[in-house]
Amino acid sequence: MTATAEQFTTTMGEASQAGDVVLDVDDLSIAFPTEEGLVRAVSNLTYQARLGRTLAIVGESGSGKSVSSMAVLGLHNPKRTQITGSIKLDGQELVGASQATFQKLRSTTAAMVFQDPQSSLHPFHKVGRQIAEAYRAHHSVSKAVAQKRAVEMLDLVGIPTPARRALQFPHEFSGGMRQRAMIALGLVNDPKLLIADEPTTALDVTVQAQILDLINDMQKEFGSAVILITHDLAVVAETADDILVMYAGRGVEKGDAKEVLSQPSHPYTHGLLQSIPSASDDATAELKAIRGAPPSLLNLPSGCSFHPRCDFQKLVGAACIDTLPEWRPTPGLTGRELRCHLEDPVATLQNDEGAK
Ligand code: SF4
Repeated sequence: MTATAEQFTTTMGEASQAGDVVLDVDDLSIAFPTEEGLVRAVSNLTYQARLGRTLAIVGESGSGKSVSSMAVLGLHNPKRTQITGSIKLDGQELVGASQATFQKLRSTTAAMVFQDPQSSLHPFHKVGRQIAEAYRAHHSVSKAVAQKRAVEMLDLVGIPTPARRALQFPHEFSGGMRQRAMIALGLVNDPKLLIADEPTTALDVTVQAQILDLINDMQKEFGSAVILITHDLAVVAETADDILVMYAGRGVEKGDAKEVLSQPSHPYTHGLLQSIPSASDDATAELKAIRGAPPSLLNLPSGCSFHPRCDFQKLVGAACIDTLPEWRPTPGLTGRELRCHLEDPVATLQNDEGAK
């Protein structure tokens, strides 16, 4: 790499420091009215993203992880979406904000990298031009200066011969290179928040690791907050500082990513971890999938939404079916929170491990 973030004009305020909250989501609910009824995609979600840290939002498909992040960038059709609660990005309230506000925020304060960069890069425009135009949309500079900035960004994200590559079209790039270009496009205006939605799902394993390393490197370089949306716990272990586990539109467990993965306290997190192979597992050992399927968001189960699939519900009884568990500190674990009625969840799950 020949260029560094310091060489570029930054939009990050001097008062901003690593650890500062840049995104504050509070009691966020998102629903879509349909002919079949109200689809409750996100319910009462609360979390924060901090500068210099990567927050992984994890869950099965339909857990609300992408829907909630799209709301941060104003990507839902306001006529077809009911959004309540609060989303504060860099102190600015976004629930009810105008499209003009979102347009200004997108790519200056927050940017998103999608699973399929082909859907975000314009197929008929050269890659360098797309990055240069995104830069010029927020900076009064000449085309030549913006093109130089685009080449520097391509260099920064590890694209060889960036000046030549800047003059190519997206279809001339490999999948991994397109994802790198997408990250360059996302970071060109030095946003405080980068949301990466399943950024490696479409890539082969070797390229996946390179892209995750790149996101880590870029986060250090730019000092931004990163939200990594994924269903892949191996990706979380590699990349994230903090984790929020979601189930059926609600957060169920949060805390330090490595601690949650090594010692889960919510039965759903425990189930997710049991369903993937670990490095220490016997290759012949059977993986244990969570029984049943996620519920319909049109008709969420009463009480704890996970109760129809939970092996521990019988230890608690009717409370799981009648009463939605509130967030509470995880007993015995500092800095951890969960939503579950189990009296001593950590010991209960550890005993289950031992019983295998
Ligand atoms: Fe299982 Fe009950 Fe905890 Fe929900 S509240 S995860 S059903 S034990």
